[in-house]
Amino acid sequence: MQGKCLCGGVQFALSGELPDLYQCHCSLCRKVTGSSANAAFRIDLSQLSWIAGEELVRKYESDTGFKSHFCSRCGSPLPNLTANDSAWWVPVGLLEAGNGLRLGAHLFVGSRAPWDVIADAGEHFDEMPDADTLAKLLRQPADLDQD
Ligand SMILES: [Zn+2]
Ligand SMILES: [Zn+2]
Repeated sequence: MQGKCLCGGVQFALSGELPDLYQCHCSLCRKVTGSSANAAFRIDLSQLSWIAGEELVRKYESDTGFKSHFCSRCGSPLPNLTANDSAWWVPVGLLEAGNGLRLGAHLFVGSRAPWDVIADAGEHFDEMPDADTLAKLLRQPADLDQD
């Protein structure tokens, strides 16, 4: 499965079995997307390879460690490494085809925007569930670090 940013400058490919995705409704994810939530999943390091445009990637990290990587030409959010460089975080809206992907969980439902109407699909958590619970729910490899 391939993904690319809005301008097409940054391109990557995903391989192997992909987990279910989650949406995070926290205030940081609202800012970084300009929308109600992020939609993403975490995959193994070996599952992502860059095809083009790595030189276009710009990186922002807040004082608290919240990371945003984005295309310097079009502003699309881009995959970045999770804490400890143990996994890729991938915004799934970049994928060219979403066939077979399922929405497994909604995180930080308790702090969603007042106008955010959340779909029934996927389990709802008021905050962040513990790492094992989430990994099991999303069928992610158990050894992935959840930060
Ligand atoms: Zn771009
Ligand atoms: Zn969030």
